[in-house]
Amino acid sequence: MCDPSKGLVVDLAVVGGGPAGLAVAQQVSKAGLSVCLIDPSPKLIWPNNYGVWVDEFEAMDLLDCLDTTWSGAVVYIDDKTKKDLGRPYGRVNRKQLKSKMLQKCLSNGVKFHQAKVVKVVHEESESLLICNDGVTIHAAVVLDATGFSRCLVQYDKPYNPGYQVAYGILAEVEEHPFDIDKMVFMDWRDSHLDNNLEDRDYDKGYSSFGLHDQQFSTDRE
Ligand SMILES: Cc1cc2nc3c(=O)[nH]c(=O)nc-3n(C[C@H](O)[C@H](O)[C@H](O)COP(=O)(O)OP(=O)(O)OC[C@H]3O[C@@H](n4cnc5c(N)ncnc54)[C@H](O)[C@@H]3O)c2cc1C
Repeated sequence: MCDPSKGLVVDLAVVGGGPAGLAVAQQVSKAGLSVCLIDPSPKLIWPNNYGVWVDEFEAMDLLDCLDTTWSGAVVYIDDKTKKDLGRPYGRVNRKQLKSKMLQKCLSNGVKFHQAKVVKVVHEESESLLICNDGVTIHAAVVLDATGFSRCLVQYDKPYNPGYQVAYGILAEVEEHPFDIDKMVFMDWRDSHLDNNLEDRDYDKGYSSFGLHDQQFSTDRE
């Protein structure tokens, strides 16, 4: 853990211990710089289920962090059009991934501070990160890795990128109608709404993100 009483200025303070924050902390500490990572729950399992392209995880030496793989992925554009994406896809074992990244961070000397950053003050030679437990972390460079909230970034122009909502259901089933070797990446078919014109019109009126993801519905669970 960080020892803030020493008042040391770390080379980099990473705010947020999601996949992005841990990856940067790992790489920067590997290069020999001092890093402190601040997160309210650094030991908690990440809440999201992640799916990734297998070749990208292979390139990062993370194949041992996949718990299921499919030889390809498919996209259903409509009832007549299906696109095969000939690229293997995998579901991340998020417990294993986080634990591997944490281990690497620890062996590279990354320090952790368990708190939420409420404010950043940039001074000439350092930045001060004020945490909700009253501690101040001093850093030469600050990285906001707080995910969607980007809570420390200030914009000089209005910035409203919109938002996307995703949720998943993890279901154990006896069987399902999908190809067992393919991950259904996107599914825009709406023929199941045939008898419900109101729902169908509603669906067309909004740009919907129709992820039908076997990450969450396979009999291999
Ligand atoms: C249900 C769901 C499924 C998804 N599936 C996929 C997928 O299959 N593949 C994919 O690539 N992406 C997926 N995503 C997107 C996913 O959110 C991002 O890819 C990924 O989590 C981004 O990582 P990150 O490290 O930038 O941020 P996050 O994972 O959001 O991590 C941010 C961290 O910052 C911490 N934090 C926030 N505020 C503060 C603060 N003030 N002080 C200190 N710490 C703070 C949070 O506690 C958190 O630990 C999914 C998202 C959701 C919601």
